[in-house]
Amino acid sequence: MSVATATAVRTAAATEEPPCAPLPVLGRDVAVPLVTGGSVTYAALDYAASAPALQRVWDDVAAYAPYYGSVHRGAGHLSQLSTELFENARRTVAAFLDCRPDDQLVFTRSTTDSLNLLAAALPAGCEVYVFETEHHAALLPWQSARLTVLDAPRSPRQAVETLERALAGRDPHGPALVCVTGASNVTGELWPVRELAAAAHAHGARIVLDAAQLAPHHPVSVRDLDVDWVAFSGHKLYAPFGSGVLAGRADWLRAAEPYLAGGGASRRVTRDTDGTVAVEWHDSAARHEAGSPNVIGAYSIASACTALTEAGFASLVAREQRLIARVRAGLAEVPQVTVLSLFGDDAPRVGVVSFVVEGWNSSHFAAALSAEYGIGVRDGLFCAHPLLRTLLGTAPATEAECGAPQNPLSALRVSFGAGTPDEHIDRFLTAVRELVTHGARWTYETKDGRCVPVQEDGN
Ligand code: PLP
Repeated sequence: MSVATATAVRTAAATEEPPCAPLPVLGRDVAVPLVTGGSVTYAALDYAASAPALQRVWDDVAAYAPYYGSVHRGAGHLSQLSTELFENARRTVAAFLDCRPDDQLVFTRSTTDSLNLLAAALPAGCEVYVFETEHHAALLPWQSARLTVLDAPRSPRQAVETLERALAGRDPHGPALVCVTGASNVTGELWPVRELAAAAHAHGARIVLDAAQLAPHHPVSVRDLDVDWVAFSGHKLYAPFGSGVLAGRADWLRAAEPYLAGGGASRRVTRDTDGTVAVEWHDSAARHEAGSPNVIGAYSIASACTALTEAGFASLVAREQRLIARVRAGLAEVPQVTVLSLFGDDAPRVGVVSFVVEGWNSSHFAAALSAEYGIGVRDGLFCAHPLLRTLLGTAPATEAECGAPQNPLSALRVSFGAGTPDEHIDRFLTAVRELVTHGARWTYETKDGRCVPVQEDGN
């Protein structure tokens, strides 16, 4: 079986499932002003940064809010109810991730927080392997480990071969961790997670999956992928209430010092006769959840997991794949546009498409999409600087003014998901064609390093 077909993350595009309608999200009716006059419904096409809240998540949170109470400590009715809700959320999310029975699921603030927590829990002498293509959240937390950064592969097969080569010959008894993304926040391409996990395990290493971009688009099964940990963020999964998740093997987490020292993480605290304080830490997930937990954040993630599961990933993916095909086909018709890719046109991907437009400063293009069409996209290097440098080349930076051509030192990214209506994609493609053909209708200037429309009164 080839790497591409064996990848544990199957695209449901291959299923016969009919696409569903967009799921209702907050902000779907928000009108934004246009510099050219009037207003238009906002087209949120920056899901990869933060997705809008699902209406269902918002409703669940609103229904719970009157019953909100202190978690884990209070004897009162609402405290007990909130504690139960918090622990149920943990079970719901563990089921969503298809965790093993003895896995731990820690509620964190975000993917960045989850990976930093794991980095703080690495056993002494641990080696860490990451590809240069990772988001900074997955690239940077390992600075105090014995870090090996692997070159960007040009195919899923090459990714596995590169990792195997790097791991070959290491002492399989020493601790090692591989950190890999499930779906790139730049190209949207899926990584061969199960094969990388098999390669890691064959060489005595463990693997953590950065599912920040994968979990909102595909079912993630810890067991099927055979990853040791998975991390993701609520705000990319339609639950923007400040929580994230780290789930997986309990042993390293139990053996580590608590991520934060404080109440909730400690089982027993005593004052010794010599005046020092002695602590017995919890062995459970609470060990790394010191302080008052974000119960609404945790509950909102559980609500999003339930909503996506009930909507059915197969039909959500079928719909998203249709949108991806439309975006890619539309951009391919514009000769000035180059879509960024590591693995090529046929690679399975999620709804994240990055591109550069010949002769355009990306910030200028993004500003025009917003100001003239009411479309929100992202421009820049997407917190993946080494990957962008590899994809765009290493030409020296020029401080391009708005409207002036630049070396392609930054890119544009359009990203979408379960709440995106077809009209947003159509408007985006029309806008790209019009901007490339006729140019911007407004004048822009650089302010604080960003392109912004010049205000009519000159201010
Ligand atoms: N990993 C990937 C692939 C991402 O795209 C992001 C955010 O864009 C992160 C990690 C970090 O997520 P957060 O900012 O929620 O910690």
